[in-house]
Amino acid sequence: MIIIMNGDTTDAQIEQVVARLKTMGCEANVSRGIERTVIGAIGDESKIDKELLQALPGVEDVIRVMKPYKIVARSYHKEDTVVDIGGIKIGGNTVQVIAGPCSVETQPQMDAAAAGVAAAGCRLMRGGAFKPRTSPYTFQGAGVEGLKMFRQAAQAHQLPIVTELMDVRMLDTFLEHEVDCIQIGTRNMQNFDLLKEVGRCKTPVILKRGMSATISEWLMAAEYIAAGGNHNIIFCERGVRSFETYYRNMLDVTAIPVLKRETHLPVIVDPSHAGGKSWMVAALSKAAVAAGADGLLVEMHPSPCEAWCDADQALDPQQLVQLMADLRLLTQAIGRDI
Ligand code: PEP
Ligand code: MN
Repeated sequence: MIIIMNGDTTDAQIEQVVARLKTMGCEANVSRGIERTVIGAIGDESKIDKELLQALPGVEDVIRVMKPYKIVARSYHKEDTVVDIGGIKIGGNTVQVIAGPCSVETQPQMDAAAAGVAAAGCRLMRGGAFKPRTSPYTFQGAGVEGLKMFRQAAQAHQLPIVTELMDVRMLDTFLEHEVDCIQIGTRNMQNFDLLKEVGRCKTPVILKRGMSATISEWLMAAEYIAAGGNHNIIFCERGVRSFETYYRNMLDVTAIPVLKRETHLPVIVDPSHAGGKSWMVAALSKAAVAAGADGLLVEMHPSPCEAWCDADQALDPQQLVQLMADLRLLTQAIGRDI
């Protein structure tokens, strides 16, 4: 940690910073320059409260040297981590496509969706039984009944299931139903109590990026889960809020190589919630895989125009088959498989 004092700082103010560092278990190295005095804190940076230092008189800025996240950092674990979801590996050489409807609606809809997912060659299925809808008057999800429909449909094709957890009180129900992968949605990326609770179980977690979250905040959110003991975390870039209105969210392709460098955990991309239109999904998927994504989370509905949620962005089963064919060519070109 480096503490930069302002231009007209006094000796008393410098002494106060040094004393405060001592109470935090650190030694101080004071370097007096012509224009500025800079104090280097020596010791365990994780024990230093940056805000407490920032509030002291004469302090202009406090800069961390160490990364504020540890377990999820690549410096902590050099090799790529592979996360196993019900026997399917995310993070290896194979690009995994998790496909399925936005929401679980009915048993026939889920049966048809699961058949479509399997027929396209995808190995994992998505579907929300609890939906975070912007309006309280729209369909909120089929709830626990939805989890049962989802399991029945997916089991027929041996597809592990990925589904969103919104409320910490439902975690036990998710565990009882042996949900293979818990999705934490964009609106809950910084729901720290929820993150801490999923950190206490071993179920893999897909952590979507908050719609206005920085990469650093996203990494810290993952650290909350990891700190509880659950290291089975997959990052999912799903587009961020921007000034643009032509599409739903702006897919941050740059986040993929940045994350691959900063963390050893797998990174996947949701092209459906990024573009918000089915016709954008193929282009965004290809960009994501080309940039190094370990997988995709794609919305597919047996009959998109009848979908109860996110109808505009869902592929139909045939479009999913085509997407997989396109991605097969792309993965061959970059030495990966699908
Ligand atoms: C979803 O995957 O259905 C969803 C609601 O996504 P997000 O949290 O990214 O909006
Ligand atoms: Mn959706």
